[in-house]
Amino acid sequence: ALQSFVEDVKGNIRVVIRIRPSPPLGTRGGGHSHDDPTIMSHPPNDAVLIADTAKGLLTVQSVTNGTKAFEFYKVLGGHATQHDVFAEVAPLVQSAVDGHNVCVFAYGQTGSGKTFTMLGNSPAHHHQHDAEGKLPFTSQKEGIIPRAVADLFRLVHERIDSESCIMCSLVELYNEQLFDMLAQESNEKLEVRPLHSLAASMHQVRTVEEALHLLAVGGSTRRIHETKLNMHSSRSHLVFSMHIAMRNSNRPDGPIQESKMTFVDLAGSERVAHTQSVGDRLKEAQYINKSLSALGDVIASLSSQEHHHVQQQQHHVPYRNSKLTLLLQDCIGGHSKTMLLACIAPTSVRNTFAESTRELHNDEH
Ligand code: ADP
Ligand code: MG
Repeated sequence: ALQSFVEDVKGNIRVVIRIRPSPPLGTRGGGHSHDDPTIMSHPPNDAVLIADTAKGLLTVQSVTNGTKAFEFYKVLGGHATQHDVFAEVAPLVQSAVDGHNVCVFAYGQTGSGKTFTMLGNSPAHHHQHDAEGKLPFTSQKEGIIPRAVADLFRLVHERIDSESCIMCSLVELYNEQLFDMLAQESNEKLEVRPLHSLAASMHQVRTVEEALHLLAVGGSTRRIHETKLNMHSSRSHLVFSMHIAMRNSNRPDGPIQESKMTFVDLAGSERVAHTQSVGDRLKEAQYINKSLSALGDVIASLSSQEHHHVQQQQHHVPYRNSKLTLLLQDCIGGHSKTMLLACIAPTSVRNTFAESTRELHNDEH
């Protein structure tokens, strides 16, 4: 059976799969070539996942369930660089400058590469300029956020007839509670509302360095905050937004174009065995499960709406089922453009796959 997913009419929701490189050879048997199509997993768990990056297909083969293929906007294999991933995101940065709200989610189990994909592993504040001092130089390991921030400033500055104001916010959603990572008071709790009316602190940024510095400051606030709450970063959703306002410089009374570019590093999608977790850990697991399935429901609802050409007004999109979807309401659906980067670690391929397909494809059943 071939199931096609989210090749929606307007292309406003795209799912990109990123399979992180396998652990070094020797730690697993077989020594398969990593060329595409790639065999990602093999017995003992009975299922074999084959990624065909050329066709954007993931095929799962198992003795018990037969063969199933799933189609995505893109499937990026273990050879894909940070540069390659950003190439998929770059059109969204352009859209944000053109006035659309855009949102990129990183989805996947803990260890699948979400944070690596979003931030990379080079310190954000070590951002440099290239030899000519023009285009910001990005190190090879930098993730899509620093690249998108640099691209955003470049595109905004190219509009010589416009003046602009860019502000950043950084909030963390943990157990359906929202915390401001850029507030003076590190434990400041916020009422959850759609991003545009959120009371989170906004910081104006004039350069790439200022934006990345804020991200680094927010990161250290987050670590302090996590220690206080006895929480692990993989159990919360982190939401970084750049709020963009632009106006024609020759028309000081003219309309202001407002848009947002948002990046969400989601909590780990692994299922916590309910029998093994109690108290706080069980509560965490339930909240994460609730928000991730609400996100899946919203995306499924929007994509079926586009598949069936349903008028927006007639279709109920269940944004209010979780704080996550309520917060991001104006970044998903409508005229917004959404990208879900689903990260997969080859070692946990079978679980991740079963889980993401259940959540993301539930409009198919
Ligand atoms: P997550 O945020 O999903 O829990 P991480 O991004 O922290 O996962 O990734 C786990 C580890 O794997 C980190 O050490 C990270 O640097 C590494 N890693 C993840 N993806 C890649 C990749 N594509 N290439 C190289 N290393 C990666
Ligand atoms: Mg992470």
